[in-house]
Amino acid sequence: MIKRWIVENDVDSKESYPQIVDAATILQQDEVIAFPTETVYGLGANAKSDRAVEKIFEAKGRPSDNPLIVHISNKTQLEELVADIPSAAAKLIEAYWPGPLTLIFKNKAGVFSSKVTAGLDTVAIRMPDHPVALAIIEASGLPIAAPSANRSGKPSPTTAQHVIDDLEGRIAGVVDGGETGVGVESTVLDCTGEIPVILRPGGVTKEQIEEVVGKVAVDPSLKEGKGAPKSPGMKYTHYAPDAPVYLVDGSREYIQQLVDEKRAEGMKVGVLTTKEYLAYFNADTILSVGERRDLHTVAHHLYDTLRAFNGSDVDIIFSEMFPEKGVGLAIMNRLQKAAGYRVIKP
Ligand code: AMP
Ligand code: MG
Repeated sequence: MIKRWIVENDVDSKESYPQIVDAATILQQDEVIAFPTETVYGLGANAKSDRAVEKIFEAKGRPSDNPLIVHISNKTQLEELVADIPSAAAKLIEAYWPGPLTLIFKNKAGVFSSKVTAGLDTVAIRMPDHPVALAIIEASGLPIAAPSANRSGKPSPTTAQHVIDDLEGRIAGVVDGGETGVGVESTVLDCTGEIPVILRPGGVTKEQIEEVVGKVAVDPSLKEGKGAPKSPGMKYTHYAPDAPVYLVDGSREYIQQLVDEKRAEGMKVGVLTTKEYLAYFNADTILSVGERRDLHTVAHHLYDTLRAFNGSDVDIIFSEMFPEKGVGLAIMNRLQKAAGYRVIKP
């Protein structure tokens, strides 16, 4: 049995929660544990220890050229950890830390295990906005490397049960703080050049970043899934349920037509839709991912919904698409990856 610590989300100090001290002690012993953040569950390990970081890659089955994000609990820690804090980064930290914004900095030699950065001369850092994550990091006294706590290629975990489904027998334990909030991962932003570049869209939107630092670029490889992404992790297939997903760039009538065609061929068909359209479809498994009029609900339920298709026996899944505005940019990025960039148009 995996160790599971239940913690209330209003934890404010490690003194009131022996579970936090327990989890932090395990991190100090270079073991890996999962814990909630405001985006998804993270799989944490001591970012200074080669052995500890190796255990993350082993547990996830993650390719070793995909670097990890380091999580800190205090803005003032940052100066000791990186070579330089560009002024755009300093402004964004003021505005959005703690929060779902990961910033790329030039490395300072000898600070982190080289396995964290996959040999790059930069390092990705963020301060999560979750009381449990912050309390654990603070209590460990360490910078904590933490990718999403799923097996590589699977949808990211938004509950402790998802973590257990993927990693039982592979990690020391999971701190269960209930469902995560945002539902998609942090935005990864490179501020080391002239214009900040979004390497991965996420919880802090392009619009929110532009409010603080003006013009922001988006890594062009994100669009088609072609070319070499500057964020190594973006080249891997991700977030996929067992059945193949197809995004449909068309009306719900057109989606229903596709469903009917596949069912006529004897296939079991799934539809990923929204609350607004739920009653319209006729298919084998129809799941609502949230409300189209509030894309935050879609982000919140996205991975859980993708995982839920695995509980049905569908052979193929058709998914609605979403406007690439606000958090919609992150939602569409994850859906495109889940679908291997397959889009069907009338
Ligand atoms: P995950 O840990 O699964 O949320 O993924 C972390 C993401 O951050 C991946 O897409 C990584 O490629 C990206 N990342 C981490 N470190 C760097 C870095 N130094 N430069 C660019 N991207 C990075
Ligand atoms: Mg991940």
